Amino acid sequence: MSVPDAVVVGSGPNGLAAAVTLARAGLEVEVYEGANEPGGGCRTAELTLRGFRHDVCSAVHPLLAISPFFQSIDLEARGVRLQRPEIAFAHPLDDGSAGVVTGSVTDTARRLGRDGRRYERLFASTVERIEVVAESVLAPLLRLPSHPLAVARFAATAVLPASWLAEGFRTPRARALLSGAAAHSMQSLGAPLTAGFGLFLTALAHVVGWPLVEGGSARIAAALVDELESLGGRGVVDHWVSDLRALPPATLVMLDLSPRGVLELAAADLPPSWRRAFEGYRFGPGVCKIDWALEGPVPWRAPECRNAGTIHLGGTVEEIAASEAAVVKGRLPERPYCIVAQPAVVDSTRAPQGRHTLWSYCHVPSGSSADMTVQVAAQIERFAPGFRDLVLAHNVTTAAEFERYDPNYVGGDINGGLASVRQTLFRPTMRFDPYRLPLKGVYLCSASTPPGGGVHGMCGYWAARCALFDLHRGRARRS
Ligand SMILES: Cc1cc2nc3c(=O)[nH]c(=O)nc-3n(C[C@H](O)[C@H](O)[C@H](O)COP(=O)(O)OP(=O)(O)OC[C@H]3O[C@@H](n4cnc5c(N)ncnc54)[C@H](O)[C@@H]3O)c2cc1C
Repeated sequence: MSVPDAVVVGSGPNGLAAAVTLARAGLEVEVYEGANEPGGGCRTAELTLRGFRHDVCSAVHPLLAISPFFQSIDLEARGVRLQRPEIAFAHPLDDGSAGVVTGSVTDTARRLGRDGRRYERLFASTVERIEVVAESVLAPLLRLPSHPLAVARFAATAVLPASWLAEGFRTPRARALLSGAAAHSMQSLGAPLTAGFGLFLTALAHVVGWPLVEGGSARIAAALVDELESLGGRGVVDHWVSDLRALPPATLVMLDLSPRGVLELAAADLPPSWRRAFEGYRFGPGVCKIDWALEGPVPWRAPECRNAGTIHLGGTVEEIAASEAAVVKGRLPERPYCIVAQPAVVDSTRAPQGRHTLWSYCHVPSGSSADMTVQVAAQIERFAPGFRDLVLAHNVTTAAEFERYDPNYVGGDINGGLASVRQTLFRPTMRFDPYRLPLKGVYLCSASTPPGGGVHGMCGYWAARCALFDLHRGRARRS
């Protein structure tokens, strides 16, 4: 067999995005995946009972919907139907009410009563300029924004801790709603930049929604593989790469790996300063995920939750802050902040007729092997009395098991690294050039590079652009 022009190690959304971008430039591309199916974080499986199909990792896809890379693919034609719930996310409280984010800022604001005007003021400009803001958020730092003023306005609030942002609101509902979105950062809510997570994800909810994929997120991986094959590329599964030198002498090598994965493959070839930098790369807390097969819909006390694709559980901002702070300090939260997705709201294909699947996870300390089923079930039951009676089966994946499932999820960190200020602006090392490794023709393209975690493919896209830039200047030839 001929030697391909480019080899990609790892077939997560970023590995496949890099492969597609290189293949579009006319290169012959081969992707090596260690697991027995492609997709990394985009896989769907019968984790509980026959006929119940659960997203193993990623389930909710606002980042994909706004991603310029994914917008370059005819997703519908490749079998990906994004289904947008009427309510993107909801946040129930103990009094039976819920904060709710819909496609309209005005509608969302109206439901927030006394905080409505403030909410509208906070989101109106970001929502209006979302394409411009997303272009910057989903790019490496060195790229100058096309509309610096709009980005500067967003950044001025985004750098704040989420707890400050929440304090600006008066009602428990508005404060909880913002903190629930911000807690996706997997950081203490008092940490800088956590407001940015809440702002950006909530703004996306207003513009593209928080869609789920009909049939499950495995369809995303299948679409990317189709796109690659249509360009002449190919993928090989069940092929773990353990040494960079064992790869075919392709001109380019793209690594969809964590810095720790790179050390395992190439430590001996890296200069000591890079080895030290990669050894010092910090990973965030892990997740413990519980998938449920249910006899029927979850009996949420707040009616709005019944139509929401995603639900943030944990109660008030103070409770969520306490849960996240405990995790960051290495303790298991007693009443964890949980993220729950209910695909049945928009997709009846996930379970036999009348039955439902439910996807849920909570944050836990890095590497934890704790099974959080009891705590997560208690949080769901708290806002949906009768939930436990509906459970037909469940499946737990602890943080430690996530790392065994996919070595990129170090300690169960699903975002490819801690979202500290330093590692948000500069990942994986303190260099403006995040994708080039100090090995000719070898590039990092995983979520451990900008723009970080999530299914958007932009790490792979930018890494491939960097490799093509070098190739055209004769600077990339490896063999
Ligand atoms: C429980 C969970 C929930 C999530 N929820 C969401 C969500 O709702 N929305 C969202 O946008 N994102 C979500 N994410 C995050 C998202 O899945 C990841 O950020 C994204 O998949 C990262 O893509 P990647 O290509 O960088 O790496 P990955 O998707 O992790 O892919 C890496 C691939 O490389 C392979 N690999 C690793 N080492 C080797 C090797 N040595 N040789 C060969 N192959 C190798 C792995 O098997 C894997 O297939 C979630 C993740 C998890 C785990």
